[in-house]
Amino acid sequence: MEISEVRVKLVDNKDDRLKAFCSVTMDNEFVVRDIKIIEGARGLFVAMPSRKMSDHCPKCGGKNHLRARFCNNCGATLPENRARKDAKGRMRLHADIAHPINAECRRKIQEKVSTAFNEEVERSKQPGYTPVEMDTPDEDVPEIIS
Ligand SMILES: [Zn+2]
Repeated sequence: MEISEVRVKLVDNKDDRLKAFCSVTMDNEFVVRDIKIIEGARGLFVAMPSRKMSDHCPKCGGKNHLRARFCNNCGATLPENRARKDAKGRMRLHADIAHPINAECRRKIQEKVSTAFNEEVERSKQPGYTPVEMDTPDEDVPEIIS
């Protein structure tokens, strides 16, 4: 698989760990959007598109995020710590929608996306810079950063 294009939309928020959104095109024919570039403790981290996991209220069956304390639908108090834990004991609150299945592919994506991000940051310093057109996905940063 070759990564043929990376589009980067910088996020202008200096306090936030979320630095950019990107879309990645594979082999000129498949696009993955909503990839996030996050400033982690050990440098830039490329987070795959993910969704918040949810479960159902025991009382009414309503759907709630795993961290919700009360049901959105009926207001019932929900039990704490409903999320499954990963190997390091951290709660799993997000699930990847698309992701590499081996370290080599992850490295390749991380490298391409980081390069594109750095180039975009440089470009953004030029006069007359216009950011790429990209609609903004949700800005929630997944907690699980490995
Ligand atoms: Zn409920």
